[in-house]
Amino acid sequence: MKKREKIQELRLNDIETEFRALLHSCLRECAQGRWGLFGQNDHLDPDGSILGWPDAKRLRCLAEEIKSLRHEFGQTNDLSERFLQLCAERGANALGEPKLAAAFLTEISEERPGLPFAGEYLRRYELNLARMQEVEAWRTSESDAGRPSSLKDYFAAHGFCSYCHGVGLAMNADGMGYKAVGWDRESQLFEQCDFCEGTGVSIEKSS
Ligand SMILES: [Zn+2]
Repeated sequence: MKKREKIQELRLNDIETEFRALLHSCLRECAQGRWGLFGQNDHLDPDGSILGWPDAKRLRCLAEEIKSLRHEFGQTNDLSERFLQLCAERGANALGEPKLAAAFLTEISEERPGLPFAGEYLRRYELNLARMQEVEAWRTSESDAGRPSSLKDYFAAHGFCSYCHGVGLAMNADGMGYKAVGWDRESQLFEQCDFCEGTGVSIEKSS
């Protein structure tokens, strides 16, 4: 990958994370009656002096930037595309903004409910931290023996899901940290690991 692409990818990762978090908080605020998120009344207040909502403006800028960056990679981001699509809806049949926000929130949460990093997920993660020395020792001896010795190999060899290191929450694509998808008030929410369906146990099908 060229240096420029790498930088673009990091930037994309940053703004998509920001977009998801901001989208959830804006949708909740809009569903509670604040107008301005989808721009339905922009024609009444073109310079935003009455209905101005900086976060909503930022959200639309982020969605546009995600769209153009993704486009460069020949991809799309469903969530931001959907948001832009809803922003473009006008006319007598369009839902008013608060109803639209409530419907969009339901749509998103049905799609992929965010999970707090707590309870069983946190316990599994803490167990991983506690066995770090054991993991390092295993990796060294496997490596010395000329066998696969990555972190993923350790978890797979011990019956854990190697994609989430046995935690049950999806990791970021670069394998560093867990994938945040939004917020529930003060607690950050994460995506369930698809490979083990959140169990943390290896259920790799033999092909
Ligand atoms: Zn998993």
